Amino acid sequence: MSIISVKNLEKRYGNNLILQNVNADIEKGEVISIIGPSGTGKSTFLRAINFLDPPTGGEVFFDGVKINKKNMDAARRRMGMVFQSFGLFSHLDVINNLIAGPVKLLKMPKKEAKEKAAELLKTVGLSERAHFFPRQLSGGQKQRVAIARCLAMSPEVILFDEPTSALDPTMVSEVMAVMRSLAKSGMTMIVVTHEMDFARDVSSRVFYMDECGIYEQGSPQTIFTSPGKPKTQAFIFNIRSYNYEIASPDFDYAEMLGGVENFCFRNAIGKKTANKLILLAEELVINIVTPKYGACSLSLNFSEKLGTYELSVSYRGEKSDALETAKDELSVTMARKSAKEIRHDYSEGRNTITAVL
Ligand code: ADP
Repeated sequence: MSIISVKNLEKRYGNNLILQNVNADIEKGEVISIIGPSGTGKSTFLRAINFLDPPTGGEVFFDGVKINKKNMDAARRRMGMVFQSFGLFSHLDVINNLIAGPVKLLKMPKKEAKEKAAELLKTVGLSERAHFFPRQLSGGQKQRVAIARCLAMSPEVILFDEPTSALDPTMVSEVMAVMRSLAKSGMTMIVVTHEMDFARDVSSRVFYMDECGIYEQGSPQTIFTSPGKPKTQAFIFNIRSYNYEIASPDFDYAEMLGGVENFCFRNAIGKKTANKLILLAEELVINIVTPKYGACSLSLNFSEKLGTYELSVSYRGEKSDALETAKDELSVTMARKSAKEIRHDYSEGRNTITAVL
């Protein structure tokens, strides 16, 4: 029997239909990643599953029992939830945040709750922070406390609502590390996430949400490498590409490089390759093409089939190979050194320099 069964779920806000006819069966030990464009009802779906925001139609079964308004508190206790905004009690220190639920709701003796809390803090790497208040912790630490607090209630399922979206990129990995080890321990997890490497590497199934429901679902392998439906294909393709238009030599180069870095981050590209892509963007756009040709566009793509990254810079005008024009410059040597292959193509008034990595 599935731990969670969703049947014909519907959710409206007033006249606004957000979810319709959603069906899903989630088995014990599964890790489901929910991905999709924003506003497609991913968070709403999570909140409907645990009746935090009850559905307006259809049914949710938890461990075979239909959830209703009467039994929803009991069901919710067995389904933990971790929010984007942590939701810690600001007036309580870490250890008291962890024992509040077990003592009040599960009537666990305080001593036992404290022992369990200390154990959990160890597993999330925060033993030394037991007596800190939330305001004294970084975002990543707060989220790890929130996960430990959720675990303190011994949930059978944990729902994560974009747990790393409010964090600085430097803190994302410490939270993901805790989530990965939870997944490994066999915890049933449903995770709304933008972390595609987590969705790809950790989940047993991926739900892509669009058009008021689960538009497509499948193994991470299928969803990320050969999605079957047009909107999923477009979404996955989008993750795999980055485009930036440069209007003049005075363009915002920091924004462009930030975009390249973000692309590397989204695609979980290793440091060495990421550094090469950043260097290529710098040399090709900033030092080679823009000073001579002005406006150009940068495009970054990943080819799943070839397993290669392509960074190309294109500019309009007569046929003119920027690599040749600037061939004595150090920038060209650096660019050539960083890429496996680098070439110039010309077609219909557009020059393109492509570097393959
Ligand atoms: P996602 O998580 O995919 O970004 P959400 O579930 O947050 O999407 O939101 C889906 C839609 O439901 C959005 O159009 C949003 O404005 C609407 N919505 C979400 N929560 C509420 C609410 N409490 N009241 C009214 N509309 C809401």
